[in-house]
Parts: sequence; C-alpha cells; structure tokens
Amino acid sequence: MAEPNPLAALIKAEIEATGPITVSHYMHLCLNHPTHGYYAAGAPIGAAGDFTTAPEVSQLFGELIGAWLIAAWEQLGRPAPFALTELGPGRGTLMKDVLRVARSVPAFFEAAQVIMVETSAPLREQQCATLSASGKPVTHAASLDAVPPLPSLIVANEFLDALPADQWVRTDKGWHKRKIGLDADGALTFGLDPTPHPQPPKALNAPAPPGSVVEHSPAQDAVLTSLCDHLNSQGGAALMIDYGALEPGTGDTLQAVRKHEKTGPLTAPGSTDLTTHVDFHYLGQLASKAGLQTVQTATQGGFLVKLGLLERAGQLGAHASEAERDAISIAVERLASDAAMGQLFKVMAISPAPLAFAGFESEL
Ligand code: SAH
Repeated sequence: MAEPNPLAALIKAEIEATGPITVSHYMHLCLNHPTHGYYAAGAPIGAAGDFTTAPEVSQLFGELIGAWLIAAWEQLGRPAPFALTELGPGRGTLMKDVLRVARSVPAFFEAAQVIMVETSAPLREQQCATLSASGKPVTHAASLDAVPPLPSLIVANEFLDALPADQWVRTDKGWHKRKIGLDADGALTFGLDPTPHPQPPKALNAPAPPGSVVEHSPAQDAVLTSLCDHLNSQGGAALMIDYGALEPGTGDTLQAVRKHEKTGPLTAPGSTDLTTHVDFHYLGQLASKAGLQTVQTATQGGFLVKLGLLERAGQLGAHASEAERDAISIAVERLASDAAMGQLFKVMAISPAPLAFAGFESEL
C-alpha cells in the first residue's frame, strides 16, 4: 500500500537502507526535516492549533517574565547595550508581551537588541508580524553561536522539550539505546539496540531495575553548553521554562500531541508535536560544572505567584467586564494551579554572577 505520509515514507526508506534509527534521530526528522518536519511546516501553536503554551494562555505570563527580565537587568548592573534573546519563540507572543512591559522602563527598552533564535522559516515570519508594532527591530539567528557578543538576557519557554532526546532502556544485560525499526508488516515500531552499555550517558543517583527508561538529549546538552559559554564570556542570565522535573528520575516521557490530544509518537511523523520532559536537575548540574554561580529552580506556579501573578490579575480584572474577569481567573488557574501547568512546568534561572533572582525560594 502506498504510504500517505511523505515523512513516514522517507523514514521507512532510511531504516530499510541502514537499519533502525535512534529516538533522537527520529525526533529530529519529525520536528526539523526541512520540508516535512513539524516546525518546518509552521507548527500550529495556540487554541486553534495542536498545543497551547503559557504565553498563548494569557498576556499575564509574558508580562511577568518581562518584569523578571527588567529586575535581572537591574541586578546585572544595567548593561547597555545588551542582547534580549529568545530561543524558540513560536508565534512571538512572549516577546510581544515582554516588550510592552519593557516600554515602561525606557533605559531597558533602548538598551535591548532583540534577537530571536529560530530555525523554522514560517515561524520567523510569524514572529516578525507579531512584533511589527513593538517599536524594536528583530534580528533572527539560527543558533546561539550567531548571537552578538553582548551581555545577554536569554529566555526560552517550551524550547528545550522540543530538542531531540534519546531513550536508554535497562535490561538484565545493561543499558540499551531504544531504536525505531520496522515490524513484519513494515510499520514503524520501537525496539532495542542489541549492544548493552554499562551506564546510560547520564549518571543515575539510584540503581534502576530492568525496564527503567532514562532519557538524555545530546541537543539539550549542546544548547546548555553554548548558553553557559556565552554567559561566561559576555555576562548576563538565562531563564528556561519547560515541562520537566527538578529531581533526578527515570521514565518514558516521549509524547506526541495533535489538536490538544495525545497520540502515539510513531503514528503521524511530522504532523504531531513531539516532546520529552526536561531534566532540570541534570541541566542545573551541567551549568554548575560550567562554572555558573547562580542556578535557581522553581515550579512555574510558585515562580509566577512570587512574581505577583495574583496581584497583576487583580489589576487587569479591576477595569474588566465580568466575562473578561472570568477569562482572567481561568488563565490564572491554567498557568499556576497544581492541576494544570503550575506543577508540571518548572523554571530555571542561571547566571555566571552570584545573584538571587526574583521568583525563587532562595530570593534574598
Ligand atoms: N516558545 C514558544 C514556542 C514553543 S514551540 C511558546 O512558548 O509559545 C518550540 C519552538 O522552538 C518553535 O518556535 C520551534 O520552531 C523552535 N525550535 C525547535 N527546535 C529548534 C532549534 N533547534 N533551534 C531553534 N529553534 C527551534
């Protein structure tokens, strides 16, 4: 039978030619393939698309992140000029809300050079359209290496979870890379590489029984390393927000989402969002090893409430209609309650300078 999904056909042909592929290579093809990849095609983000991110839930999110960035800039000694950089900006909504808040602090607004690190051509276009009235020119970069040598404030929301990750599975022989091959009917299927390894690439702090799955993303390692190099040489801070864990752990978190519903990761390559949860404990350790003096973590709910989510929602609601007030309450619930994004999403701030940023427990 002819394969109706062009990317599935390409992936199957590759497996037939060279054998089963790793989960990270599969994710890379599904998300970033230049013609059939999910992000290359524009990634439908928002209520009418496949998934809704925090900035798309409410302007409150971007406004609070904007206030955080301004406070961090003050703590860093008001560098001017500086790069206000976003990694994986999606539709550009977060930066739009940040810049609206930033206008009220003219020295910050004027000193900021807006850089968007984005690989997807259609999303670059959307970001330019979203920011056309922001009063700031936007420069796009393909990677962090192309960000100018300036002190930087870097923000990334739901970016790390979109970077390809590998899965390692424990058997009684050792650790095996999970692979994707073809079953007897020629359909994509999960399997294990036969070669056992004594350890997965990420150290575990407790023994893992057979069946355990450990995820490790070489692409996240590379981004974090270049983030740390950039911050160490230029100064600044980075704020990362994502699905994930603050404690080390094991488990299969590879997830495909389409039209706000979970689906099988192998069902429709290139047409669904594919992610894995981010291990902030491990990334925090990498940042500390790279010499960064500040590594702070929090849940998204705790972070936003400390930054004044409830007060800001109250201000917005004061001049709003009843229907608008209801919408604001629903947005606050979604962003911060334990049942919604509040616990599932985590926040990490890093800086080479010894600072206590707003929104975290260790705040001074
Ligand atoms: N931050 C946005 C969008 C999250 S979706 C929001 O919160 O709404 C993930 C984003 O990362 C998309 O913009 C996608 O195109 C981008 N992206 C994925 N892989 C990337 C890579 N390797 N380099 C740069 N951007 C990438």
